[in-house]
Amino acid sequence: MTNSLYARYMEAHRALRTHLRSCGVCTDDHLCADGQQLFRALTSLQDQYLAAQKRKRN
Ligand SMILES: [Zn+2]
Repeated sequence: MTNSLYARYMEAHRALRTHLRSCGVCTDDHLCADGQQLFRALTSLQDQYLAAQKRKRN
């Protein structure tokens, strides 16, 4: 379960990085609509992943 969550988290990370490299619109301060969607997906997975890590430790 955690492994697949981690895999999705890494995949979201990769997708955002790939987008930022190829997108002519996104900057550090401003993301285009696609970039924002990828960023939201990443932060959501990151929250879930970190929460799962915390649960495992406690
Ligand atoms: Zn973009």
